Amino acid sequence: MAMDDRKILIGLGRDALAAEMAAIGEKPFRAKQLWHWMYNRGETDFSRMTSISKPMQAALAERYVVGRPKVARDLESTDGTRKWLLEYDDGNHAETVFIPDTDESRGSVCISSQVGCTLTCRFCHTGTQTLVRNLTAAEIVGQFLAARDAYGEWPTPDDGGRLLSNIVMMGMGEPLYNFDEVSTAIKILMDGDGIGISRRRITLSTSGVVPMMRRCGEELGVNLAVSLHAVTDELRSRIMPINKKYPLAELMRACREYPGASNARRITFEYVMLKGVNDSPADARALLALIKGLPAKFNLIPFNPWPGSEFECSPAADVRRFSDILQDAGYSAPIRQPRGRDILAACGQLRSASERQRHSRQAARLAAGIEDDHHPQPAVP
Ligand code: SAH
Ligand code: SF4
Repeated sequence: MAMDDRKILIGLGRDALAAEMAAIGEKPFRAKQLWHWMYNRGETDFSRMTSISKPMQAALAERYVVGRPKVARDLESTDGTRKWLLEYDDGNHAETVFIPDTDESRGSVCISSQVGCTLTCRFCHTGTQTLVRNLTAAEIVGQFLAARDAYGEWPTPDDGGRLLSNIVMMGMGEPLYNFDEVSTAIKILMDGDGIGISRRRITLSTSGVVPMMRRCGEELGVNLAVSLHAVTDELRSRIMPINKKYPLAELMRACREYPGASNARRITFEYVMLKGVNDSPADARALLALIKGLPAKFNLIPFNPWPGSEFECSPAADVRRFSDILQDAGYSAPIRQPRGRDILAACGQLRSASERQRHSRQAARLAAGIEDDHHPQPAVP
């Protein structure tokens, strides 16, 4: 619901939108029209949907709003990375980041799936944020729409030449702990009559929620990225508590069985480089042994520090040596360039802006029990 009790339309899948129109006595073509206006043209105002009659525009405006999150802050990094702090109707915040490719004709929108995260990976700033609720499909889709608005990329270019070309579900939260809403949102973003981003341009990153991985592949068919970060259960459980629930052997089995993975569509293993913790040549060789036989590629992420973090980033030479060992074995193993560090938009840094908001004017509202109402998954013990 919007603030004023009108229903929000974005976030309804095609069938749900058709059902909504049927409920007010409209034929299916009305849903099609709306879909086009909302997701192809980016229109938010019914009175500008010119193919819809004036009385119908008014009837729609009485019951519905198209819906957009409020942009509470809009920050641009010196490297072109941009971060939006979005505010939802209940006062909660989530962050969305746009990372342009270095050639600046394309780029990835990094989308959050939860406010905070119930998991507590030791190297991750989001993981220290205890307040959690799942984002709704409307709030997830809304992040991409807000990014599009900011770059004026409407109507959807049909030649594929768009700046906001890719989506990575790598913002705040664990997407596979909010799968239903994430799935509805991704299907809307992939729909060819609207935004039409191909599944090949969408990557979902998980910390390893094993029981949901197959469904993710079957239902969405997006690229999978797995936050691996350690090659032994002992270390992984220490820095990623979810490993106690789904240890490496189970995680690797789920990767082997991931629908749609092939040599042409490899699973990305993300590996954060922590100085003296997981960055030795022996670790690199153990990593190769672990993923043997899998269609894999790597993404080495230099650790991004945040206030109070207990780790340091591995020295550049050690990261390079690690990467060389993987590449010499025939795997792609780029070192991710940290982007947007100056605005705390880099991997694992999302949180602080929300916290600042929280500690000021949101404090009372957020303290008033939102946590309990929306806590989606218990933290892994
Ligand atoms: N929850 C999901 C997706 C969001 S995190 C997941 O964990 O996969 C996106 C990536 O950033 C993950 O690989 C995560 O492990 C990594 N990351 C978290 N904190 C980081 C930090 N401080 N520096 C670098 N990468 C970090
Ligand atoms: Fe959550 Fe991912 Fe951060 Fe772990 S790395 S705390 S799963 S957002």
